[in-house]
Amino acid sequence: MTRDAPPGGPRPMPRDDLRELAGYHSPQVDVDVRLNTNESPYPPPPAFVERWLDAVRQVGLHRYPDRSAKELRAALGRFLDQPPARLLCGNGSNEILQTLLLTYGGPGRRALIFEPTYALHAQIARGTGTAIVVGERGSEYEIDPGDAEALIAETGPSVVFLCSPNNPTGTVEARETIERLDAAAAQHGALLVVDEAYGEFAPWSAIELVDESRAVMVVRTYSKVWSMAAVRLGFAVAPTWMVAELEKVLLPYNLSVPTQLAGTIALDFREEMEKRVASLVEERGRVYAALAATDGIHVWPSGANFLLFRVDGDAHDLWKRLLAHDVLVRDFSSWPRVEGCLRVTIGTPAENDAFLAALQEAQLA
Ligand code: PMP
Repeated sequence: MTRDAPPGGPRPMPRDDLRELAGYHSPQVDVDVRLNTNESPYPPPPAFVERWLDAVRQVGLHRYPDRSAKELRAALGRFLDQPPARLLCGNGSNEILQTLLLTYGGPGRRALIFEPTYALHAQIARGTGTAIVVGERGSEYEIDPGDAEALIAETGPSVVFLCSPNNPTGTVEARETIERLDAAAAQHGALLVVDEAYGEFAPWSAIELVDESRAVMVVRTYSKVWSMAAVRLGFAVAPTWMVAELEKVLLPYNLSVPTQLAGTIALDFREEMEKRVASLVEERGRVYAALAATDGIHVWPSGANFLLFRVDGDAHDLWKRLLAHDVLVRDFSSWPRVEGCLRVTIGTPAENDAFLAALQEAQLA
């Protein structure tokens, strides 16, 4: 039985400030070539899966997991050359970002984001009642450090978001930009979060800036390079005092035992993963060159595992024609600041060939 409203009373309403919330929309379509959500095109190595399943079989599922994810943090600490007390793990980096905004954002506080960027930064800010201040990027989607410093001084955000490499543009921020924004944020008691979901594909990482004297946090994920989007695991590298604050807000036992085991065991497959990154970066160069050589297409350089490109003519129509060729890319054509753009994830060489062939046919159609 369905009811429009509880008997005798009005239907409970969400908070007034959530009325405009649209939710997250990225079509999940069943196609042969899925190049729309920037996952790894490769499943995890079979030897990893075997070790993981064996480990899961041996644990007592009737007990809660280790609340502090001790082994995972120790393994990650060794991997990143960081003390475990600087690491915080969550169900995907989205959970880390949400915890960050629950802790340092909230009603009466502001988060600064530079658009166009990862939609969930604004979405999670809204969900946590954090007001959003929008900074603009230049014509190549770069951030002007001087403009950003002025905006921080003018608007007094509690949290400054930088996404590097930026989704959906692929832009990698220079170390100098991040240092200047960190200094500006620190002057105003704000913290700087660098979302490095695609950090492994970029030439440098802001993890090297994390120390106790800086209010800088870097967020990473197992969803891309580590081929574990289905597992949901992400982590932050941040000063110990910040991790301690975030831990108070994170739900207890947030990370399941299978997730903790997957994250720990995966790190033993570093060499294989590094090879995958190298080949995806090479493929990125090949697809970039092919797009750059195509009439009617402008493609931006990228430090991530995807490329943003603008098409002359109707980009949404091109998206549909690619789908008709069984190739799914991400349609940004109606998004402000990336009008007319599509984004393609770098896949296996065969998938990239299929995309380029479909593009050619769709363009000719
Ligand atoms: N940050 C950025 C920039 C992303 O693109 C994504 C995934 N699309 C995430 C965070 C979230 O990743 P996760 O799967 O770890 O929640």
